[in-house]
Amino acid sequence: MPFPFISKDKRRISTAMKELLNIDEIFMLEALREARRSWDLGEVPVGAVVVKDGMIVARGCNLMITSHDPSAHAEMVVIREAARLTGNYRVYGATLYVTLEPCVMCTGAIILSRVDRVVYGAQDLKTGAHESAFHLLAEPLHNHVPEVTGGVLRKECGDILTNFFKMRRMEKKARKMRERAERESALAAAPEAGGVSEEC
Ligand SMILES: [Zn+2]
Repeated sequence: MPFPFISKDKRRISTAMKELLNIDEIFMLEALREARRSWDLGEVPVGAVVVKDGMIVARGCNLMITSHDPSAHAEMVVIREAARLTGNYRVYGATLYVTLEPCVMCTGAIILSRVDRVVYGAQDLKTGAHESAFHLLAEPLHNHVPEVTGGVLRKECGDILTNFFKMRRMEKKARKMRERAERESALAAAPEAGGVSEEC
């Protein structure tokens, strides 16, 4: 189903909706849509969009497993796509919306691509490179320092990850229980261990 706040060209946000809703939240909802796409692919659900002049110019989600590429984080995917579609390795004047705080690798891509602004949702306490594990994204020593806004739809962006990992744990537990039941069933059907039937 198409996102209800997107007009017929599927990219431009209507002026009326800009006035009614927080524009960052609107685009973060689009990044969340991408996160759900990565969930469907069996990936950790992180999504991103790149916005320029009020329009989404590229979309992306985690694709590490799908593409056999450890660098295919949602930010890397969407920045590559934005650069390809705009025909420029610099994506000047763009805002990157991503559901999870960028890591160190993605921080490098953000700086190299000259993204103007980064908006993210949930904190990544283990590898986040803005306010969590590291403080690199807005480090003034870089030759480009993007404006950063964190915590937009933080709960929604965090919940999708929490639910995903909860589902993974439940699936793992169910698999172990099934394997155990299969082992016990096989043992019950087998001859007694060590037993040798002697025929005289
Ligand atoms: Zn990353």
